[in-house]
Amino acid sequence: MTHAGRQAALEAVATEIRSCTGCRLHQTRTLAVPGEGSPDTEVVFVGEGPGFNEDRQGRPFVGRAGGLLTKLLATLRWRREDVFITNIVKCRPPENRDPEPDEVAACAPFLRRQLEILDPALVVTLGRHSLGRFMPGARISQVHGTYTPVDPAPGVSGALAFALYHPAAALRTPEIERTSYRDVAGIPAALLEARARRERNAAAVALDETVTVAVAADADPDVAPAALAAPEGDRSEPDFTLF
Ligand code: URA
Repeated sequence: MTHAGRQAALEAVATEIRSCTGCRLHQTRTLAVPGEGSPDTEVVFVGEGPGFNEDRQGRPFVGRAGGLLTKLLATLRWRREDVFITNIVKCRPPENRDPEPDEVAACAPFLRRQLEILDPALVVTLGRHSLGRFMPGARISQVHGTYTPVDPAPGVSGALAFALYHPAAALRTPEIERTSYRDVAGIPAALLEARARRERNAAAVALDETVTVAVAADADPDVAPAALAAPEGDRSEPDFTLF
């Protein structure tokens, strides 16, 4: 998909989210919060759900937790606009309560479509609700600062998931804040590994296709026909600072 195609597809999903009445959260929201960021990014941050400020502004992570997230990103010399930031549920749970399972389920198709469009190499989970979607069964206290192949169920495959504490938890507990600064420093290495995995997977698929076609044509399977070269994507290399 082209940049314009991804942008238009993300906007189409956002438009549906803004008028969604699929669960009870629409009754109490001010604005739905679809998410925002670069349509071309390799990295998607997924939080839990909008809070007070996000509900008022219709944008993710714009309150105090968002301020800390922005600072954490800045330690990598990344800006919010370099990544995509969204949430498991797109409307604020009243009184900032945890989202209910049926609310998460009602919102899941939106997250799935966003992830299918963005096709990120790395999903950074913020807090235990997001962790639960991408690394089912993992405990945040044990896996924060680490990565693992992402569970494909939420709509992303062939990616890595990197676990961070939720920035709101870091604001409540200085030790978690210090830990979060240490953890975030591991993201560039995770991104490099995620890229390498994708390249290995793409090479394996290309080799498989080459052998299949070559065998079908009764040709020498060691000689890859030029036409079988992996198609060039139009995704330009993002200018991430990795170290
Ligand atoms: N907390 C979240 O999980 N998401 C937001 O967008 C803001 C606060």
